[in-house]
Amino acid sequence: MQLLEERIRKDGKVLPGDVLKVNSFLNHQLDAELLDAVGAEIAGLFKDCGVTKVLTAEASGIAIACFVALHLHCPALFAKKSKTSNIGSGVWSAKAHSYTHGNDYTMIVSKEYLSGEDTVLIVDDFLANGSALRALRELCTEAGAKVAGAGIAIEKKYQGGGDELRAEGLRVESMSRIASMDAEDGIRFC
Ligand code: 5GP
Repeated sequence: MQLLEERIRKDGKVLPGDVLKVNSFLNHQLDAELLDAVGAEIAGLFKDCGVTKVLTAEASGIAIACFVALHLHCPALFAKKSKTSNIGSGVWSAKAHSYTHGNDYTMIVSKEYLSGEDTVLIVDDFLANGSALRALRELCTEAGAKVAGAGIAIEKKYQGGGDELRAEGLRVESMSRIASMDAEDGIRFC
């Protein structure tokens, strides 16, 4: 999406550790008009898939998931992050590794809100190595829910997670794809 790429070019800051900071429109302050346009684009790609739920992870995926859900006329559901692996029986759970914090954590979703009746569209702000997406997919597998695919705002394609998941048969649609980035040379899109 040209609009999103232009905004990333204008406001994105490349930090050490292959982290792109987009706090001015996606990860702290939210540009609702831009996120609405991104949400509409993702929703349009999956409009014929019978999606009953948009699933993301707290906290940074929630904004984008809400806009996608708005356009698909279904609920948005966010997995909560738990530091303990001592999880009750009322939830589906899956382990993930945090790209930005470097630690392992458990994602949980109440069994009340995700079941075998659901067709799920997974949504996230970033896709890097794919750990978050894998954990979200695992929650769906546990619940017996069908996964229609994944809609991502920013894929750092050079990190490979998206292509691995595509090779495994998951439909992954990214609204911007970064081919390379560094603080000096800037950001190059695919
Ligand atoms: P993955 O699990 O695919 O390695 O990383 C995806 C998750 O890590 C996303 O949910 C996102 O919150 C975070 N993440 C990965 N790369 C970046 C980045 O460059 N910038 C920001 N702000 N978050 C990132």
